[in-house]
Amino acid sequence: MAYDQNNIFARILRGEIPCKKVHENEHALAFHDINPQMPVHVLVIPKGPYANLAEFNAKASVEEMSAFMQAVAETAKMVGVEDSGYRLVANNGEDAHQEVPHFHMHIFGGRRIMGRMIKAQD
Ligand code: 5GP
Repeated sequence: MAYDQNNIFARILRGEIPCKKVHENEHALAFHDINPQMPVHVLVIPKGPYANLAEFNAKASVEEMSAFMQAVAETAKMVGVEDSGYRLVANNGEDAHQEVPHFHMHIFGGRRIMGRMIKAQD
């Protein structure tokens, strides 16, 4: 599947659409989700054109991967959930309801009653 240069996160990266930036490094950008599902709901995206984790894994450099994970951890610290705890989610593909075809990690936190991980019901 070819990367869609006009997906919403590509447009944010090009500055065509504004975002509430939290953190940025050479290879990654973190910003608040427009429709937060938790008191803290931040998205971290690589700056490179990767539609999902498989593409990120296949095409990103070690430096990009490292910078991405550093941005995730640094962002969690900056939004104040490092000590209280947080959940990382990366929806990949249709079964996971990935809506935006640019690899991203959700950081959820700020509330204790997030719920335990549960087995999906049929
Ligand atoms: P996905 O289902 O692909 O893992 O999640 C995509 C996320 O992107 C959703 O949580 C949605 O609210 C968020 N989102 C969609 N459009 C925008 C936008 O224009 N700006 C921001 N900040 N978040 C967006």
